[in-house]
This record gives sequence, structure tokens and C-alpha cells, in this order.
Amino acid sequence: MTDAVSIARDLIRCPSVTPADAGALGVLENILKSVGFEVHRVTFSEPGTADVDNLYARIGDQTPHITFAGHTDVVPPGSAASWTVEPFAGAVIDGTLWGRGAADMKGAIACFAAAVGRFRGERGGDFGGSISLLITGDEEGISINGTKKVLDWLTARGERLDACIVGEPTNAQTLGDMVKIGRRGSLTGTLTVHGTQGHTAYPHLADNPVHRLVRMLHAVTSAPLDAGTSHFQPSTLQISTIDVGNPAANVIPAEARAVFNIRFNDGWTGERLQTWLREKFDAVGGRYDLAIRVSGESFLTPPGPVTDILSTAIERTLGRKPELSTTGGTSDARFIHAFCPIAEFGLVGLTMHKVDERVEIADMAALTTIYKTVLDLYFPPA
Ligand SMILES: [Zn+2]
Repeated sequence: MTDAVSIARDLIRCPSVTPADAGALGVLENILKSVGFEVHRVTFSEPGTADVDNLYARIGDQTPHITFAGHTDVVPPGSAASWTVEPFAGAVIDGTLWGRGAADMKGAIACFAAAVGRFRGERGGDFGGSISLLITGDEEGISINGTKKVLDWLTARGERLDACIVGEPTNAQTLGDMVKIGRRGSLTGTLTVHGTQGHTAYPHLADNPVHRLVRMLHAVTSAPLDAGTSHFQPSTLQISTIDVGNPAANVIPAEARAVFNIRFNDGWTGERLQTWLREKFDAVGGRYDLAIRVSGESFLTPPGPVTDILSTAIERTLGRKPELSTTGGTSDARFIHAFCPIAEFGLVGLTMHKVDERVEIADMAALTTIYKTVLDLYFPPA
């Protein structure tokens, strides 16, 4: 077993831009096997999508069973020339580990692997429960052949999860500032308004879809969607684009289109939002099409044993009590929360998805201690 930094460097050196694995899961497989895990590599595919490699590793056959979930895939580095260091070199300079995936989230996976190695070293194989890792190669992409399918596969095998920690970079500024206990849902709507093309001098012979589109968008943006709930901020609707594509100033176009994204709290469901949107659009009237894609419903793990253990481990290691939050973008927690209580905590996310992604090595050492403490608290010595 090696330390978190060297594991993270080996992982970063695999350029695993979704859906490529580039050897990343193999690095993890070898490390986990060396500490006694039974490792499964599960590949899923679907027509029209790339094959995706996933890994599930478990040690122990008793309950309770705690899972660490994460992803080894990364977003593209963009132009390598704009990086200070080579994005897939895993450079360590003055106490900082650089590279694509350092924060999101190869660094945290490495910390957990190091923590579980330490835990095994101290406690041996009989610690009165099970520990597993569920690592996907399809989180940053369309997430079709990743965690969702691994969970189905686990269910078919009769595996049960009792608790889950997801290692996403939840900390906004400083390690220990934030644990995520849920997420807002995300709905994307594409609204196409149909009209009748015509001459702008003869509007009575045409029907201008742009005017109706503007009124429809006004109807859904002129008042807040809600005032927030006990663990969530107010829901928000943002218009992403309005497209008419009409180059002629004297032509009323036949069609106008807009795309918007709603981040919604637990006061809504995707279904109820769709009904609300149609009511608003119907009130304006005319012909329109509304295509809806809900990439995740909102969810919440109310503060309880998993968040308590995580908060305690953070407080003991860093002397700081984390905020329990539901802010930010989606993660694979949106699939896992239906199976067991879940909380998310990883490294600092300041540079995630950016040029010069990097993490402090001191933070990696602290996160390893935090994860190890979580295991100590979850499996108290008899
Ligand atoms: Zn991530």
C-alpha cells in the first residue's frame, strides 16, 4: 500500500477523459487487491454510447456495509499550452499536486484508498462489517453506463449498502468547510414557439412567434419559483439561450426557440415543474412544443448517523465544523441516495474543471485522516 499522493499521481497519469479509462481503474484495482479487496470490473454499453468501465471492490461480508463512491473519469484539459504544468503528468511542486482530476476527484479516491489501507493495517480483516468502493468512468459525461447501472448490478447480486460517502470536491474554499447532504434537481426545457411567417409591414397576415416566446419567458421569470425550504435555497430558472436565426429585418419568422435550465429544491419534482410550465405557457396561448429533460430530481439525506460521523471526523481532524449544504451541481449521489443514506465530502473544489487544477498535499493528508476516522467511527473496535 502506498500513500495517497503517489496513488493520485498514478491516477492522474492516466488521461481518462470520459469515456476513456486509460488504465485508471487498473491502477486502483491493483492497489485494492493488494489490501485484500475482491475487485470486479464491470463494463456497460448501450447502442449509440461508448463502452464504459466501472469498478466495484468489497472487503468483508458482514454488515454494516459502507461504500465510498466516486469517478476516475475527468473533463478534457482544454489547451495543454495554457497549463502551467503538463495536465497529465501528476507534478508535485512545493506541496501542491497538479493535474486534471487532482480535485475532481482522483485525489479523493487516492485518499480513501490510502485510508482503507491504513485501517486494514490496524484492524486486519475482521472489523465487523464491509467496506466497498464504487468507482465509475462515466460521471462527467452522460452518466448512462456508470453508477446507475452498477447499482442495478449490485441489486441483482443481492448486495445492500448501508451508508455511502461520495468523494466529490465539496469544499468551496478550505478543507472542512462543506459537507453536501443533498442536491437540487435539474430540469432543462427547450421551448419552440410556432407562428406564421410574413412581411413585417403586414403583421395581420402573419403570426409572430417571437412576441409569444418573450411573453412565455416573462411569465416564468417574473416571479421567484419559491422561497426555499429548510435545507435548500430557493429554486431558480435561468434562460440559457433564445434563438430565432432570422437575418432579415423585414420578415416575421415562422419559429422561435429558447432553452432554459431550472435548479429546483425539494418543494418540486420534475413532473410538477413540467405541469407548472405548461400552465404558464398555455395561458399565453398559441402553438408551441416543450421538450423537457430532467437530469436529476432533488434529494436530501436529512442530518443523521452518516453526516454525524463525517462531521465528527472532520472536526477531530481539522478543528472545524462543516456546513451541511445542498448547493452546487449534480453528482452521482443523485442515483445512490435511493439505496442508502449518503453524504459527500472530498477536497477543495476551487480549481475543478479549470486550467491548472490542483490540490494541496496537506489537504490530502488531512482528508486521508478524515476518511480513516470515518471508518474507525463506523466500525468501533469491539
Ligand atoms: Zn466529480
